[in-house]
Amino acid sequence: MMAATPDARMPSWVSQAALPGEIPIHHRAVFLDRDGVLNHSRVIDGKPVAPWRLEDFHIYPEAAPALDRLRAAGFRLVVTTNQPDAALGRMSRDAVTAMHAVLTDRLPIDRVEVCFHRPQDGCTCRKPKPGMLERAAHALDIDLATSFMVGDRWSDIDAGQAVGCFSVFVDRGYAERGPERPDAVVSSLTEAVEIILGQT
Ligand SMILES: [Mg+2]
Ligand SMILES: [Zn+2]
Repeated sequence: MMAATPDARMPSWVSQAALPGEIPIHHRAVFLDRDGVLNHSRVIDGKPVAPWRLEDFHIYPEAAPALDRLRAAGFRLVVTTNQPDAALGRMSRDAVTAMHAVLTDRLPIDRVEVCFHRPQDGCTCRKPKPGMLERAAHALDIDLATSFMVGDRWSDIDAGQAVGCFSVFVDRGYAERGPERPDAVVSSLTEAVEIILGQT
């Protein structure tokens, strides 16, 4: 018979680092890619390209009701987006900031994680690396193993799966390879939400 330590009486999601008297909660999250998931991506030669100007930043009408449902189900909502184009001189960083002000004003989003690095910078946050998910998990007390990732490119799915998230691929039909083994494939954010709510 196992010794009845205090830890053994706690559910597994309770943080082992909790101080006596604290009630730690590990939240579940849905990590959301930005372009092609929450807002329209421009598509040039079959490939998705981020909008460079605020006037080209258009949130999908389905995004607000879809995210409201996830919030109602208790999920933290975290945007994780690669935005190298400011560093590559194609747009201003102020434009990215302005887009995220619009995004957080219109949608129930808890946190926006941005990687501004270029591919050649070798950072740990540019997807397919999971640094942005790990950063948000630390900041918001998120349990990655019971969380979800939604994205429209293979690098989103790989980032989610690297930290154990159930990862849903929104297939927009781009002329590029898709993820190798997504946990689910859908054609819209609304369908992704149906899948996520069906898993919980
Ligand atoms: Mg995208
Ligand atoms: Zn980065």
